[in-house]
Amino acid sequence: MNQGLSIVTMLLLSASPAIKAVDNDAAFLSYPTYDGDDLELTVDSKGTHWRLWSPAAEAVRLMIYPTDRNTAATDTIDMTRSERGTWVASVPEQLYGRYYTFSVLDKGKWLAETPGVWAKAVGTNGERAAIIDFTTTDPEGWSKDKGPKIGNINDAVIYEMHHRDFSLHPSSGIVHKGKFLALTEPSTKSPQGDRTGIDHLKELGVTHVHILPSYDYNSVDEANLPANTYNWGYDPINYNAPEGSYSTDPANPATRVTEMKEMVKSLHDNGIGVIMDVVYNHTANNDDSNFSLTAPGYYYRHRPDGSYSDASGCGNETASERQQMRDYIINSVKYWAKEYHIDGFRFDLMAIHDIETMNEVIAALKEINPDIFVYGEGWTAGDSPLPVEQRALKENVAKMPQIAVFSDDIRDAVKGHYSDASDRGFATGKPGLEETVKIGIVAATDHPQIDYSKGNNSKFAYAASPTQIINYVSCHDDLMLTDKLRKSMPDATDAERQRAARLAQTIVLTSQGTPFIFAGEEIFRDKKGVHNSYNSPDSINAIDWNLKHDNAAQFEYYKELIKLRKEHPAFRMTTTEQVRKHLKFDNINEPNLISYSLTDHANGDEWKEIKLVFNGSDEAREVKIPKGDWTVIAEDGQINSEGLGKAKGGKMTVAPRSALILAMTK
Ligand code: CA
Repeated sequence: MNQGLSIVTMLLLSASPAIKAVDNDAAFLSYPTYDGDDLELTVDSKGTHWRLWSPAAEAVRLMIYPTDRNTAATDTIDMTRSERGTWVASVPEQLYGRYYTFSVLDKGKWLAETPGVWAKAVGTNGERAAIIDFTTTDPEGWSKDKGPKIGNINDAVIYEMHHRDFSLHPSSGIVHKGKFLALTEPSTKSPQGDRTGIDHLKELGVTHVHILPSYDYNSVDEANLPANTYNWGYDPINYNAPEGSYSTDPANPATRVTEMKEMVKSLHDNGIGVIMDVVYNHTANNDDSNFSLTAPGYYYRHRPDGSYSDASGCGNETASERQQMRDYIINSVKYWAKEYHIDGFRFDLMAIHDIETMNEVIAALKEINPDIFVYGEGWTAGDSPLPVEQRALKENVAKMPQIAVFSDDIRDAVKGHYSDASDRGFATGKPGLEETVKIGIVAATDHPQIDYSKGNNSKFAYAASPTQIINYVSCHDDLMLTDKLRKSMPDATDAERQRAARLAQTIVLTSQGTPFIFAGEEIFRDKKGVHNSYNSPDSINAIDWNLKHDNAAQFEYYKELIKLRKEHPAFRMTTTEQVRKHLKFDNINEPNLISYSLTDHANGDEWKEIKLVFNGSDEAREVKIPKGDWTVIAEDGQINSEGLGKAKGGKMTVAPRSALILAMTK
């Protein structure tokens, strides 16, 4: 969720004195914390055991149920106070198939029932936690399942998608529309015979799918799936169980677990990694959240008057600096990595979390799988009591060496400002953004030819290495690329807009850093101009796969562009020193024109030199290319990683709104 603060606001926030930590939260520091791995539920040969962390509770009850909802408890057990703020209960039977909730006595009042904060399986709408045998949820071959090996995060090409967007449209040819299982169906086709589903992803060549929130969230009623309610899912309920509406049977707690694992395995079997969007920064509810019902107040930050502070813009913000919350985030991502073999995490509004937490998150994940990576939104959606210098902000990313942040620099400079629909960018002919695009090209690293004072969003080289940057021009938030081009180029044809899209994505896919595209851009999908489609109907959000036929040339361009990137390590340098040494800008001070070279077999590339010229204007421009035997890789809106033809250098014309890419192959 990008409520994407403008940089002006960000600078104002940065300039304001750090707000003091809230005094009325100090009592929470005295709470004992519990870091054992048996929180809430364990089942072993001796029976079923519960341990709830609730240090201030006056008493805690455990209710056992026969079904996931609408039934009376078969047992109510008074839990016993135990070590480090926890309460325990045990029964000698393995209660597989049953459900449970907790209720906490707080200041003389019994709070509403909650499945706790560590429910790993839940029934309909996540109301009750379920006791299931996880060993029965593994698909065949799960123990050998592995995601793709990648050397560095910038070897990835990330494809961001929502389950319903991807498969819901009738043209997808997919049976399990809007479900985890959609990504397990091979050989699906559009009415015109184009590949859809997982085959489409393979054909496109992306390395990782980034799925929008897929833990159990609030706003889709799992008891009424025929209503076809749509939501992005940035309203967390149960962080450690999959969302029920993406399963074929939300009432069966094992189904969502198994089907999500089948999705992961299917993607892995096809060489594609899975990145999960995680939203630990806030919860859907305030006083009624599972956090509030188990340890009232503890998990949130507050204002001096005791009200919820709201850096998420969604009514509350969590407090990662408190030990039990920090451990919660770390243990939760570890759980997804181990139980579901998740290959990466995208942290929503990451700057609500503190730097130390994020560093501990990545360290814990790398111990499980060195190929795992983490990136996030390096901003908040509102002010926070957490001091600016402690926030996991974009501007603080150098203090988090193994974490990457989205570059709003390249995003806004290439296509125009995210919140001003008609604003144009470098690729659509607006002058004056060249230096900010260059900041994107070097992945915000310290480069001697860049004047950061001319940057639109950031005024300094904030990344310590190119592996700290995610480059993109469009995502689920704000106007996606097609809609942005339609609104900012109202008099153009779609063919002209597609040229602009090709140029924009060529800049993204050839820049240092990690490229990220939004599902369906490659076939020029749109969202009918809706900029915040978080709860828009499927008619707005579902990708119409007929477009793959209509825009076949656009798809081919994206595919070839991705291939070019994957074949050439020159686009994937890993250190600032390499970029400084091998990336050289040509001295062109003309609007909407950038020219640079990747030199001397950069990062071990087989090609000696790659020359890239971007012309964002609507006129042909002439550039001087050193004489030599060049292979033309991209020209006039066409691209072929094997070469479109030959060129001798000298004066060359760069067609309007296009990239010229030349390779000195030896
Ligand atoms: Ca749900």
